[in-house]
Amino acid sequence: MVIEDACQAHGAEYFSRRESLWRNAGSLGIAAAFSFYPGKNLGACGEAGAVTTNDERIAQGIRMLRDHGQSVKYFHDIEGYNGRLDAIQAGILTVKLRHLGQWNESRRQAAQRYNELLKDIAGVVTPFEPDWSKAVYHLYVIRIDDRDGLKKGLSSHAIDTGLHYPLPLHLQKAYAQMGYQASDFPVAERVASEILSLPIFPGITPKQQERVAEAIRLARGTAQKV
Ligand SMILES: *Cc1c(COP(=O)(O)O)cnc(C)c1O
Repeated sequence: MVIEDACQAHGAEYFSRRESLWRNAGSLGIAAAFSFYPGKNLGACGEAGAVTTNDERIAQGIRMLRDHGQSVKYFHDIEGYNGRLDAIQAGILTVKLRHLGQWNESRRQAAQRYNELLKDIAGVVTPFEPDWSKAVYHLYVIRIDDRDGLKKGLSSHAIDTGLHYPLPLHLQKAYAQMGYQASDFPVAERVASEILSLPIFPGITPKQQERVAEAIRLARGTAQKV
C-alpha cells in the first residue's frame, strides 16, 4: 500500500511505465497528503492541507477525523481532532490554485538557470531530475562538502539559505525510543551535512540568481576574473 507525502509536490508529475502515462503527485497511491502551509508552492494564509484519495471509505474516515470524529453532528464514532479547512483559507487557495501551473513553471525555469550557473563551480552538486519525473522545485537543494562554510559565506553577502533538513528522522529525539544511533543510516547522515537550499520562488530574476552564483563562487574561492 502506498500513501504519498505530496506535501511539497503540488503539480509534480511521475511517468508510470506500467500505464504509459504521466501521473500527478497525489494520484499515485491509495491516498496522499498535501500541505498548504504558507511557504509551499500552493500556500494558504495560515494552516491548511488536504488529502486526496479515490477510496470512498478512506475519504469518509478522513472527513470524520478532521471533524472530531463525528459521523453526524454531535455523534462521535471515533476520536478525531480539529483539522477543518476554514472558508477564508479555502477562498485564498481557490484563487491561488489558478496560478499554480504558471508559478511551478517559473520555479522549473529558475532551477534550470541555477543548474547552468552552478555547473562549473567545483564541488557543487546540483539536483538530479530523472526523465521519468517533473519536479516543481519547492526547494532548490545543492550538495557541497563545506556546507556550513558556504552558508556563512552567502550570509555575509545577505543571501539567506535553508537546511532541509539538518537532522535525519532516526536521530530526532521524538524517535529516540526506536534505538537508532549515529552511523545507522550513513547516507542520510552524510547528505544532511552537505545539503543547502538556495533562494527560489516564482519570479526570482536571472540577475538575482547570478548574484547567488557569484557569491557561491567567491565563497569557494573560485571568483571569475572579469
Ligand atoms: C511541509 C511538509 C510537511 C508538513 O506539512 P504541514 O502542513 O506542516 O503539516 C510534511 N511533509 C513534507 C514533505 C513537507 O514538505
